[in-house]
Amino acid sequence: MQVETATKSTVAAKQALPFLDLKAQFASIRGEVMAAVTRVMESQGFIMGPEVAALEEEIKPLVGCNYVFGCASGSDALMLALMALGVGPGDEVITVPFTFVATAGSVARLHARPVFIDIDPATYNLDPAQLEQAITPRTKAIIPVHLFGLAADMGPIMEVAGRHSIPVIEDAAQAIGARYKGKPVGGLGTFGCFSFFPSKNLGGAGDGGLVTTNDPILGAKLKLIRVHGSRSKYEYDIIGVNSRLDALQAAILRVKLKHLDAWAAGRQRNADRYRHLFVERNLTKQITVPSAPTDCVHVYNQFTIRVQRRDELKEYLKQHGIPSEIYYPFSLHLQPAFAYLGYQPGSLPHSELASTEVLSLPIYPELSEAQLNLVADAIAAFCGAK
Ligand SMILES: *Cc1c(COP(=O)(O)O)cnc(C)c1O
Repeated sequence: MQVETATKSTVAAKQALPFLDLKAQFASIRGEVMAAVTRVMESQGFIMGPEVAALEEEIKPLVGCNYVFGCASGSDALMLALMALGVGPGDEVITVPFTFVATAGSVARLHARPVFIDIDPATYNLDPAQLEQAITPRTKAIIPVHLFGLAADMGPIMEVAGRHSIPVIEDAAQAIGARYKGKPVGGLGTFGCFSFFPSKNLGGAGDGGLVTTNDPILGAKLKLIRVHGSRSKYEYDIIGVNSRLDALQAAILRVKLKHLDAWAAGRQRNADRYRHLFVERNLTKQITVPSAPTDCVHVYNQFTIRVQRRDELKEYLKQHGIPSEIYYPFSLHLQPAFAYLGYQPGSLPHSELASTEVLSLPIYPELSEAQLNLVADAIAAFCGAK
């Protein structure tokens, strides 16, 4: 009986380690958040208004853009950018298949064609060397993704895009605050698209997103498309959608924005710690840690390792109370939803291999040193045991 109880409580303590601990984050800002919520409730103004305008103003330096528009989600941010470019049936948009579905889904729902190119296996981001050969006269946009919080290699991407006069839409949903050669992501291409989904580095209390640009003409279009194409009340210049950010979300996001730098630093500190622990435990042959180019600031929305017996490791960690997630278990070009595009297994080998080898570990800033050790020890025990 005694032994059983002890084992159970150890397991319970370890199971208390969540993959992402939003309750711990809330506990640290509870007073500020509740005051913001109360402010909006007292005002009874829920759609757009001063909170959204203030957030848009305050977030400009972080995203490096003059024109920023809160919207309903990161998926909509992508769609709004594509709509501002007039992307539609018969058009092609080049992107990667190793990403969240919305990157390509935003293209498909406008009845344009996603054209997938492979990733650089070291960074998991669009491989610029594959870009030029995928361009056709129908190419209307390129969507690189700053996956896991690391900027795609925007220099060569912008060089090729510029040579062909093709706009670039940055999918920066996972990378708010990340930098490429000193500049914030979102302001490097024609558009930046951000998500405030709760698990992103700047997460709201529900869905939300942001679309940005430095082009005044495209900015004016985004502004109209977000509210039904309406120039002023009941006057419509173009066809738009209803994709606004709620005042409640904006008020909460304004609170969290003030803490974002500190939280990113916490994620970076934890990433360094993992790297150190893996070296210390002699795991560098079995585990590939995230690539961190020196000219980039990585914000670690995920800390994603690569390992050959990934599914076994995931199961082993689960048995030992360590949560992990697979982003992403299937490459989009092989998903049933995109079967109509006609891609075959083997056509984008780096994306396909990555989907069988990646494993994301807890990385949120509230993790304790002891919890990081627990994760590293469990991985070491798995690797050592085989
Ligand atoms: C989260 C995410 C999106 C979509 O954002 P939502 O706000 O959930 O619609 C798009 N692209 C990537 C890479 C994402 O991670």
